[in-house]
Amino acid sequence: MASENENQIHAMFFPYMAPGHMMPMVDMARIFAATGAKVTIIITPMNALRIKNAIHRDVKSGRLITLEIISLPSAEVGLPEGCENLVLASTPEMTMKLFDAIDLLQPKIRRLLSDYHPDCLVSDSLLTWTLDIANEFGIPRLAFNGSGFFNLCLSETLSHYQPHKRITSETETFVVPGLPDEVKLTRSQLPDIVKNRNHFSELFDKLKESERKSFGMLMNSFYELEPAYADHCRNVLGIKAWHVGPVSLFNRDIDDKVERGEKTSVSKHDCLHWLNGKKPRSVIYICFGSLTRFNKNQTVEIANALQASDHSFIWVVGKAIKTSNDEEQELWLPQEFEEKVKENGRGLVIRGWAPQTLILEHEAIGGFLTHCGWNSILEGVVAGVPFVTWPIFAEQFYNEKLVTQVLKVGVSVGNEIWKVWATQDSPNIKTSNDILMAINTVMGNTDESMDMRKRAKKLGEQAKKSIEQGNSSYNDIDRLVKDIKMHKNSKQ
Ligand code: UDP
Repeated sequence: MASENENQIHAMFFPYMAPGHMMPMVDMARIFAATGAKVTIIITPMNALRIKNAIHRDVKSGRLITLEIISLPSAEVGLPEGCENLVLASTPEMTMKLFDAIDLLQPKIRRLLSDYHPDCLVSDSLLTWTLDIANEFGIPRLAFNGSGFFNLCLSETLSHYQPHKRITSETETFVVPGLPDEVKLTRSQLPDIVKNRNHFSELFDKLKESERKSFGMLMNSFYELEPAYADHCRNVLGIKAWHVGPVSLFNRDIDDKVERGEKTSVSKHDCLHWLNGKKPRSVIYICFGSLTRFNKNQTVEIANALQASDHSFIWVVGKAIKTSNDEEQELWLPQEFEEKVKENGRGLVIRGWAPQTLILEHEAIGGFLTHCGWNSILEGVVAGVPFVTWPIFAEQFYNEKLVTQVLKVGVSVGNEIWKVWATQDSPNIKTSNDILMAINTVMGNTDESMDMRKRAKKLGEQAKKSIEQGNSSYNDIDRLVKDIKMHKNSKQ
């Protein structure tokens, strides 16, 4: 079932089962299909429900894109039926079981490659074993690393120079050597794995090795956002990579935006109606991504900051999550807060999933308080808004430094301590005052705020331009498709 003519490629996509990985990868798969390629997305049944409408729209418009639905052996690892995504794995134990269940998919992936003989396999960097399977069938594996060039450079450079090893204090600031800009960090902001080897080290080593040995890396970024780091990555670190983003921009249809990721908890009509009633740049949008949850004390501080501020806001508090004991974790909003802000019209609280890109692109949005997940950063950049940064886990502290120290389009609430799990309690609470000060700086009218706003607006324009014909991301997608075709034809 390989694509018959030498000018068409058949690309198989295998995304990781977490919104921050799956959403951009599905966008990429759809971009590939839009170039005329034949595309198959390998996905599990519950995750298929999240994307089937968008794929259906693509098929109706003549694109060759299909879903290959495979079951996840949840029961075999002791997970409840249907727990097929990290958003549903609300405890560290469940997360580890989900990793195990995903690893058990290897024979199924091998069988699919044997049945379909695609011309390439695009898989998440976390799915390290897909490289071996792709090699068995002699097809290129492209690794999708969910973050940007800055993150790649910073983590490679830290592991090479180990500047944190020369510092004993967790809170002392140090400069990372060997980067195009002066980037400062503290030890407390570094992932554990950077400081000491632990039970994730082996996976991390494999991940880096399999990225390096792959045909190349697909980056959800655009050249103008981080040119020095894209160059550093390719020329100094020797990593072969194509920048094809911001991929969220390819969701041009309003239904694509509203349905991206999950069913939203607010209707597009209610959301847009509320935003239309606000002045341009008067609303701060607050969302901590798909996985992060705060405890009661921290939630109360955020609510107090919002109550004390003069700015309107949209606050996505997320859904209550089920733990492995089937208990529902409460969402800690202070009593009457929600009714009060609804009554005075100053706030919209979204309990569940928000149509993030639709909200961000509205002219009423003046700032984005974010946990610095890479997708959120890019979506804020596209919208041309400045950020209030509050990194929590994964590489989010690195992304924060890109925003605050390199691009200079954001102000930090001052979180200093990295955590391994998104739902784990933070050892330190950010006070309402810390939060309020950062919001006021970003939303205010000081010279600092206006300069940030100008820089953010320019980046937004560059982001949108990058995917248009003849510009950086458009050209890299073109180059990538040609590279895969060349590889295919060289085999024949
Ligand atoms: N997102 C959304 N609505 C929500 C929460 C998140 O659309 O209510 C999307 C957001 O637009 C982004 C992704 O989920 O594309 C989150 O990815 P990110 O890398 O920012 O953070 P993660 O969830 O991986 O921590």
